[in-house]
Amino acid sequence: MLLLNPGPVSLSERVRSSLLRPDLCHREPEFFDLQDAAREGLLAVYGVAASDWAPVLITGSGTAAVESMVAALVPADGRLLVVENGVYGERIAQMAKQYRIDHEVVQHDWLCAPDFNAILARLDHAQPRFTQLAVVHHETTTGRLNELAGLAQACLERGVGMLVDAVSSFGAEAIDFAHPGLSAVAGTANKCLHGVPGVAFVLARQRALEQAASRAYYLDLARLARLQAQRNTPFTPAVQAYYALVEGLDELRDEGGWQARHARYTALARQVAEGFAALGIVPVLPAAQSSVVLRAYRLPAKVAYPQLHDALKTAGFVIYAGQGGLSAEIFRIATMGRVQAADIERLVRAVAQRVA
Ligand SMILES: *Cc1c(COP(=O)(O)O)cnc(C)c1O
Repeated sequence: MLLLNPGPVSLSERVRSSLLRPDLCHREPEFFDLQDAAREGLLAVYGVAASDWAPVLITGSGTAAVESMVAALVPADGRLLVVENGVYGERIAQMAKQYRIDHEVVQHDWLCAPDFNAILARLDHAQPRFTQLAVVHHETTTGRLNELAGLAQACLERGVGMLVDAVSSFGAEAIDFAHPGLSAVAGTANKCLHGVPGVAFVLARQRALEQAASRAYYLDLARLARLQAQRNTPFTPAVQAYYALVEGLDELRDEGGWQARHARYTALARQVAEGFAALGIVPVLPAAQSSVVLRAYRLPAKVAYPQLHDALKTAGFVIYAGQGGLSAEIFRIATMGRVQAADIERLVRAVAQRVA
């Protein structure tokens, strides 16, 4: 079965085999060597310096990392502006509400790009002023890649720290860690890094961690950061998932880094789009506004998602439904994980049989 959903991904044999390494107690030095390798490997993906950025591992799914970031990096007396143009932006707003963080949401239609002027207006005119802004990099709901550079600059100019959910872009899309407007980035092992579910992470500016709040217990980011920097851990980590993360990071490096992965995903996404175009299946967004990681397509007339899904599953592919109000209109194809051009050829043939 080939997974074309946005994580977990189809594993390479190299990563799958890494799961069979020796059992480890997480209080032994061998585990801390593994933890250090994962932390160093995460910094290396974008060439980030440990003097500026702390890599913090969290046992949990991507949402755990986003929640840990949001709960900690809006200081106790801070205010958060959430940019929402999909399910994952909405999730950040729900976290802020749950933790009783003073926040406001700039809402968008889920098919729209963030409205830069509307965001600036809130940053400039809201009272009291916002201290942080949270945004999803790749909004997996629609495949839209939200542009970060302009927002980061606007944040920098106003002394606002930018928190980014990069769960479905870290490892495959450009992220400018050198930009001083960027405060933290949350990611996960089982999307573009091609690991297994169970470990997620936040890269946080050391400066932002110094002002962190402690609203959560298990997800307390500053505590996790402090202990991990001391070769320690507060709880039992997902040891085997760490093995796979480190192997996935090594594999990414050996294959040419995030830029090579970006190029590979780009080619696969283009192949899907061209194959579908020949069948009259059109993308929801222009390629220039989409990530290379996942693209959303309009369901062809007279084809219901459940039937398309089931037919493709019989042919060996798992595709992904639209979420929320988009579930009757769209379907999604992710090209992360061990996916080859030949797989996409077979996919397009299988779809052709279904929509003909
Ligand atoms: C997948 C994803 C998440 C986290 O999902 P989990 O199921 O918790 O791993 C968060 N944000 C975005 C943008 C995602 O694509």
